[in-house]
Amino acid sequence: QAKEAGRNGMRFFDQSMQDSISERAQLERELRHAIDTQQFELYYQVQVDHLKHPLGAEALIRWIQPDGGAVSPARFIPLAEESGQILALGQWVLESACAQLRAWQSEPAMSELAVAVNVSARQFHQPDFCEQVRSVLRRYGVDPGLLKLELTEGVLLENMEDTIASMQALRELGVRFALDDFGTGYSSLQYLKRLPLDQLKIDQSFVRDLASDGNDQAIVRTIIAMARSLNLDVIAEGVETDAQCALLGQLGCQSYQGYLFGKPMPAPALPELIRSGFLSAI
Ligand code: C2E
Ligand code: MG
Ligand code: MG
Ligand code: MG
Repeated sequence: QAKEAGRNGMRFFDQSMQDSISERAQLERELRHAIDTQQFELYYQVQVDHLKHPLGAEALIRWIQPDGGAVSPARFIPLAEESGQILALGQWVLESACAQLRAWQSEPAMSELAVAVNVSARQFHQPDFCEQVRSVLRRYGVDPGLLKLELTEGVLLENMEDTIASMQALRELGVRFALDDFGTGYSSLQYLKRLPLDQLKIDQSFVRDLASDGNDQAIVRTIIAMARSLNLDVIAEGVETDAQCALLGQLGCQSYQGYLFGKPMPAPALPELIRSGFLSAI
């Protein structure tokens, strides 16, 4: 009987394994084709200060297939990291964000806004990453102070000494760093204090139920206190409601990002949002 169950279990296991392997292989092929045929677009999501004045925007990649379908970055970015395609994709994101920064230099209300770019572990740990960033900034004539790189804890814990050295080299240029998804990883003060960071991004999982969950409030309060003692600024991700925003403000949060202010949008829509007066009315 055990054997029977084992066989059934095995057959089930085989089938679902097989399905997910071929699905991945299929997606990887599609991703390669998408890179060749440039099916990507960068969207931008506004970030605001406590007065709801725009500070900048986070660049978020979108894969829009020829049939109009979209594949979530949460699905294809991890795959691109495993396959190494993230290197080409990451380089494209950086270029595209710098070209956009350049274009916004001549637009009223846009020229002082920073752009935050997500950088994956594999991308960051390339030996010539600093040089890539330096060269793209120079090529587009962008003020490095307007570029912020978002890293996750996974990136930072890998090879701390080299990571710190790369971050320092980029910071000397003026580039700034945010620690993304903060609170979801290991987050020890021990390493946090050694990293040349500028900002912590409170993960949206702590913001979602903030109004009703005392534990989340305690966590957010702790993160903000921690940031303050390390001289970092804090931005909350995933702010969707006035209630969350008000509570975050009471807890001492200085900046916000989330659907309440604007969803990620195509680049031309961002200046429209900013000039519309919508943000300061929230
Ligand atoms: P992330 O960097 O933490 O980005 C925040 C995610 O939260 C984005 O999802 C954004 O659309 C979503 N979001 C923003 N405001 C709200 C809100 O109010 N409510 C909710 N429910 N969600 C909100 P998205 O664009 O699907 O990206 C998912 C993840 O994919 C990103 O998380 C980031 O880790 C990765 N990613 C996106 N673009 C890039 C990229 O260009 N390069 C790399 N390496 N990773 C990227
Ligand atoms: Mg991010
Ligand atoms: Mg995040
Ligand atoms: Mg995330």
